[in-house]
Amino acid sequence: MTTATLTIDLSAIAANWHALNRLTECETAAVVKADAYGLGIDRVAPVLASEGAREFFVAVAEEGTALRRILGPGPRINIFSGHMPGDTDMIRSADLTPMINSVDQMILHVEAIPGHPFGIQLNSGMNRLGMEPSEWSALREIALSQGPSMIISHLACADTPDHPMNAAQLAVFREMTEGTGLPLSLGATGGILMGDDYHFDLTRPGIGLYGGLPYVDARPVVTLDLPVIQTREVPQGGTVGYACGWTAQRPSVVATVSGGYADGLIRALGNGATVTHEGRKAPVVGRVSMDLITVDITDLPETPGHLQLIGQHQSVDTVAGFAGTIGYEILTSLGARYDRVYLT
Ligand SMILES: *Cc1c(COP(=O)(O)O)cnc(C)c1O
Repeated sequence: MTTATLTIDLSAIAANWHALNRLTECETAAVVKADAYGLGIDRVAPVLASEGAREFFVAVAEEGTALRRILGPGPRINIFSGHMPGDTDMIRSADLTPMINSVDQMILHVEAIPGHPFGIQLNSGMNRLGMEPSEWSALREIALSQGPSMIISHLACADTPDHPMNAAQLAVFREMTEGTGLPLSLGATGGILMGDDYHFDLTRPGIGLYGGLPYVDARPVVTLDLPVIQTREVPQGGTVGYACGWTAQRPSVVATVSGGYADGLIRALGNGATVTHEGRKAPVVGRVSMDLITVDITDLPETPGHLQLIGQHQSVDTVAGFAGTIGYEILTSLGARYDRVYLT
């Protein structure tokens, strides 16, 4: 078998959810947008539901519809993008709860499916989704009379706890929600770690469940093992890969490994990434191609059958660092070709 193996530890995801839950006094949701950050919503969401998660969040109604099929009735499925034209049938039939982001969405929602549950998303400063303070004050009494399930907002700088934006958003969120008496939710993974002030009634962790920063204490979830297809000796001065991207400075042994940019090993990983063999590092050399990468294994004591990109010796965030990106992007880029193995 020449496809790489992506091992996803579902028990680690469950442990991360419980650990994040224990950091607060309030309820803990689970964010499973983008196919549970690329790890497989059909496997991840049922585990979280059986561990006790009752509130789920996805980005769009299509994801919510798929999630309802997976979870069945019971857990609440909340939609960050709210209620867009064309979403009504999905919201009704899959019993989804849109987070209403604007006056237009509010009108659409109450006209199309009066009485159907909804929440409110407020813009407390990120300027991405949610109602403006002025919109909210105009709509507030009408919206509250329709019985929203909760009010949420999102932090722009929660991965930088000292950033003044956090306190500023907290103050705006408090002011905008004062006296509503509704359940409130502001923090995602970073917000949980910033302490009680940011917890309110419900937290919305995503990346922390999947083993990524800023949750430094997360249990690792993902292992990615890439089979070695071929090895060869490259003489000093020989070049490897497209555009002769790497030149051997000494007689070298180069392994050609299954997995490339079509599998989410983004091309930026060509500059300075390593893979590991039993804890020893070996540098990725030359360009990342669509299906293959090349690795200098000259200094390994043996020829490995596979090389590990992500696992106990290099975290998702370490790999992200090689490519100048974040763990979120590495996870959500993990390709469809991998042989996926789920540990329970
Ligand atoms: C993605 C997202 C989350 C989860 O954030 P993490 O940083 O992955 O914990 C929570 N709330 C909103 C609005 C989001 O878009």
